[in-house]
Amino acid sequence: MIKLKSRREISLMRESGKVAAAVLQALEEAARPGMATAELDRLAEKMIRRAGGEPAFLGYQGFPASICASINSEVVHGIPGLRRLKEGDIISIDLGVVLKGYYSDTAVTFGVGKIDSRARRLIDVTRRSLEKGIAAMGVGGHLSDISHAVQSYVESKGFSVVKTYAGHGIGTEMHEEPQVPNFGPPGRGPKLYPGMVLAIEPMVNAGSSEVEVAEDGWTVLTRDRSLSAHFEHSVALGKEGPEILTVL
Ligand code: MG
Repeated sequence: MIKLKSRREISLMRESGKVAAAVLQALEEAARPGMATAELDRLAEKMIRRAGGEPAFLGYQGFPASICASINSEVVHGIPGLRRLKEGDIISIDLGVVLKGYYSDTAVTFGVGKIDSRARRLIDVTRRSLEKGIAAMGVGGHLSDISHAVQSYVESKGFSVVKTYAGHGIGTEMHEEPQVPNFGPPGRGPKLYPGMVLAIEPMVNAGSSEVEVAEDGWTVLTRDRSLSAHFEHSVALGKEGPEILTVL
């Protein structure tokens, strides 16, 4: 069942989203060549707790960290560790916050130092596909309008969307109904109503859309080892349209 949120709940989710956005921005500013992804994870956990929240990912289905850090051909769910960032890497950082009982979930991909033009383009197209998906979240529309907007934009730029993982509803739980796939024809699925809050999260591969899970049981990789990027916002639908909650 899709749980519509009241204005009071959305205002609490806005608070949670602001914390997540601030942490994500701090991580992007802190990341540099030579840094281990575990350092980014510690910084995230410290900032989330200092803001009165809890890291939503830590312990979720046994996940051992506060952020997911996925480098280059890693799509999502990379485990932070001793691996150090190198000049030219791209890194996707995904994080979740729970504050006063309300969840927020957001992700960004950025380059470490100088990156090549294809990596830059992949990041730009993925960010833009999230914007297209959000813009398609309109009262009276259908859920798959979002999916279609993401997929058609990504494929028009020669990249592919990951189909095995999807966005989701979010609120008092990190993953609520409905699932928000990044592909499909428009005009399908539940109708979009004010009070819906969705985590929209395109995962975009430079090569084929096929992915596989690494031996650690978590890290998702592109099967052809092409680069992958991931952007995510938690977005509330109001009477006037979508509002991004995971912003400063
Ligand atoms: Mg998510």
